[in-house]
Amino acid sequence: MPSTQFAVFGHPIGHSLSPRIHQAFARQFGIELDYRAIDAAPADFIAAVQRFFAEGGRGANVTLPHKAAAFALAATRSEAASRAGSANVLTRLPDGRLAAHNTDGAGMVRDLTERHDMDLRGHTALLLGAGGAAHGVAWNLLDAGVATLTIVNRSPEAADVLADAIGDPARAHTRYWEDLASIGSYDLIVNATSAGVLGAALQLPFSLVGSRALCYDLSYGAAAGSFLTWARTAGARSAFDGLGMLVETAADAFELWHGQRPDTGPVYQSLSQPAA
Ligand code: NDP
Repeated sequence: MPSTQFAVFGHPIGHSLSPRIHQAFARQFGIELDYRAIDAAPADFIAAVQRFFAEGGRGANVTLPHKAAAFALAATRSEAASRAGSANVLTRLPDGRLAAHNTDGAGMVRDLTERHDMDLRGHTALLLGAGGAAHGVAWNLLDAGVATLTIVNRSPEAADVLADAIGDPARAHTRYWEDLASIGSYDLIVNATSAGVLGAALQLPFSLVGSRALCYDLSYGAAAGSFLTWARTAGARSAFDGLGMLVETAADAFELWHGQRPDTGPVYQSLSQPAA
């Protein structure tokens, strides 16, 4: 009988790679892991999480659409979770209360700077989207040294909320989606919209892509296809999807729960292989 209990909560959750990633990490340390994928509709999320932890759960990953609810549910919040206003990891504290963490931004920056060897310092960055994931990565991009962060969202109010939360107008500001064709080019373009997973293709002008541009889609696999094709056609220097981010954020959660840092390289490599 496995001695540890972990889970990922989402809706839908059937295609989540988290169980596979965490089992691969656990094998590196000889840990026998009980890690489940739990599908919880928004109305059932709080009750499902409370039941999971009451029955001995020790930690949970949280994905769409529950990250804000997970943040609200927790008794303590990491700095990254607090500034993002959302949580992708919940941990049971010794007294039974829940601690919220957000590892999205750290995972994305580590994927870019360590796996893909990209130096973000001095880059002008364009962040497309202002949802939970954009909130999770914005501060980390600034911490990684991007010179300016231009936030553009289909609904401009959400972009303003994010820029106001950052509170550094000299470095982080918003523009309108309608102006994308006239705002010039960027060194780093991050697609943090859910257009790809929703089956929609963003209509983006090639003029956004600067001569040394690096393009990154937080979604991965087929959902990132349209954005990556656009980036390469526009002449981007490099274009990556968010699979590496997913693996890195999972590694942070694994370390929080097990106190050991997994080697993400082989897990990323195995997930990158095309299905046989
Ligand atoms: P949210 O639902 O919180 O936000 C969605 C964002 O996408 C909003 O800004 C929304 O704009 C925008 N959007 C949706 N459809 C369109 C469209 N057709 N055109 C333009 N903008 C659109 O989702 P998250 O922020 O949590 O997730 C965003 C993406 O990031 C998802 O694909 C998710 O899978 C991925 N992700 C990947 C992670 C990883 O580890 N690789 C981790 C976290 C997220 P509006 O406000 O106008 O509705």
